[in-house]
Amino acid sequence: MIFDIHSWITASNLAHQHSRHSCSQLGTHFTGFFSAELLNSAGFVIVDELPSPPMDVVMQLGLGQLLSPNAVGINLDDTYYLKPKAVGQLRVHFHKLVHVLQWQALGPGPFIKRYISEVIKYGYRQAPLEEQAYGFEERFVADPRDPFLILAKDTI
Ligand SMILES: [Zn+2]
Repeated sequence: MIFDIHSWITASNLAHQHSRHSCSQLGTHFTGFFSAELLNSAGFVIVDELPSPPMDVVMQLGLGQLLSPNAVGINLDDTYYLKPKAVGQLRVHFHKLVHVLQWQALGPGPFIKRYISEVIKYGYRQAPLEEQAYGFEERFVADPRDPFLILAKDTI
């Protein structure tokens, strides 16, 4: 299999940079949960169809379940992609920002490797990196007005 996932991620983000929204606009909701640096550097793109590597690559990686029609978003490094119906859901943004921190904590290569192996081993929802993201998301939803600062090292 010759597919350079890093090049694909870089190219995808480059192709969408004109429509990328800064997560700083989420500051009113997320200040105290995420650092200003993170909110300033992370961004999201609204797309009708989520970016996806070629389907044969996805299947070879064992990631078919991630790209089901039900998926509402995908993270590519410091940028996440959302379907329009998810844009108004703060909890989805929150979850995605935790993944941005995970990419930062591990670095893109190790993050991708670990994420893929976890999904294959545990399934999407039980993958430890997902458990972390869902855990923080639930804590935010339980009390959005009680901030707890999340650092990259706490997300892995
Ligand atoms: Zn997730």
